[in-house]
Amino acid sequence: MKKKIFSLIFLFFMAGCFDPASSGVSDSELLPRAGLTRAAYPNDRAENDSLAENLAEGVLLQVHPGADYQLSFQKDGPHPSPELQLYRVIFNSDSTRYRLRQVRRLKAKEADGRFIYSFTCEESSHTYWAATLADASGNYYTGKVRDFLFEGKGSYSERFNLNLIVTGKYGGTADLLSVTELAAEILSAFRTDLAPGGIRIDTIFVQNAENHPVFGSKYSSEKPWLAGTSSKDFLVTELGGWGAPPEYDALDLVLVHRIDAESVLGNSLLFGGSLGGGRGSTVVIGTHFIQGSEEFALDSKSIAHTALHESAHFFGVRHTSATLSDLENENDFSNNDDGLDDTPFCMLINSFSKKNKLPSDFKIFPRIFSAQALALSCPDENNIMFPYTIDGVESIGFSKEQLQQIRGNLSILKH
Ligand SMILES: [Zn+2]
Repeated sequence: MKKKIFSLIFLFFMAGCFDPASSGVSDSELLPRAGLTRAAYPNDRAENDSLAENLAEGVLLQVHPGADYQLSFQKDGPHPSPELQLYRVIFNSDSTRYRLRQVRRLKAKEADGRFIYSFTCEESSHTYWAATLADASGNYYTGKVRDFLFEGKGSYSERFNLNLIVTGKYGGTADLLSVTELAAEILSAFRTDLAPGGIRIDTIFVQNAENHPVFGSKYSSEKPWLAGTSSKDFLVTELGGWGAPPEYDALDLVLVHRIDAESVLGNSLLFGGSLGGGRGSTVVIGTHFIQGSEEFALDSKSIAHTALHESAHFFGVRHTSATLSDLENENDFSNNDDGLDDTPFCMLINSFSKKNKLPSDFKIFPRIFSAQALALSCPDENNIMFPYTIDGVESIGFSKEQLQQIRGNLSILKH
């Protein structure tokens, strides 16, 4: 029995050097204390203890033009409400330094035992703002921040398109489908699984990377493309944002021969953040995968399933149960699960990961668990966001709350 895994890449920030000489800040501003290494994205329901812990002294918020946001947390006994200070973060080209410019200072509204801060993002493109909490003396808020929530909504349509970008030599599927037939299978799977959330897919465009106007010469259709080897970038980001609208605004699914990492079927950032081009604009899927030294072809149904799973990550949906790799990459062991009420959670994966202190290497984890043990023990095994795929276990698609999360974040992304 083959065990295969979906991969999830977390977005990291360098602990950038703050450059006060060029920030233009005044004494009354409460700047983030340390390097900004924690980032919140909208509508994430996970525990996020590390964000709560660091909010007063500075965390990043991913924001999009025109979207409305609400940041809230529980009141802490006698501590009066702090002021939320927001700063635009301007990174240099390699993210080693950044400058800050204050964009908002907000008083809290109080409701249901919570401090609530509402704001609209008036940027021209998606970016990061930094947040700090200032007490009445202008110092960092010392109350405990509990149940941190960052919610957002925009006005973009419930409809979007897919853009299947075929890179390198197409190696076919186990059920011998052509690219056009595979595209039709993917479109059908997206329509079926997203329709209960009121999300519509108009069409799927099919491109050949060899015809890319800028990078085409790198993507010869003579040779299979191995993400991670043919390109160091597992996400093949340079192919995101193809041509002009409507293709440009479609979700870019980069189809490679395989992801060149043990048992990995696909890759995406958690909340990619761009339906256009640039960082976080691609989802990568393979027609094949490697296990041991052997390569296996996937059938079209599995490829479509992976495309849906990775695309849900792109829209901010987490694994129903975090893998060790998820926990360690994000470095927040409170995020055991997705925080949603209607998806079960598999204690087995989490407790096992922690107890054995497994290294942060997704190659090792699936070998240690037997697929049979997972299949018998995990109540979320048939949810599409379960982190592994197990032969013989049929997907039941997304839960209602997973679909709401996708719809909410789709409304924020320009398309
Ligand atoms: Zn995944």
